[in-house]
Amino acid sequence: MITCTEAVKQFWQYLDDDLAPKQQQLVDDHLGICRQCCGELEFARVLQSVLEDQRSVDELPAEVRERMARFVKELER
Ligand SMILES: [Zn+2]
Repeated sequence: MITCTEAVKQFWQYLDDDLAPKQQQLVDDHLGICRQCCGELEFARVLQSVLEDQRSVDELPAEVRERMARFVKELER
């Protein structure tokens, strides 16, 4: 089983369908048991659509940027 950090690190590739089937399965398995990451995946999904629209992190709403920074910090604790 992979950790939250490992799962989150792979979210972008997961969302892009860029993971090997085996890796994707690992992320899937983790999301199946981890509520924290499920919420974050939703967040990443929203974030990705924002990025696709705007193409620049600088243009992200401050609220989204803040949440992203906070989440990364939490993972590093
Ligand atoms: Zn998790």
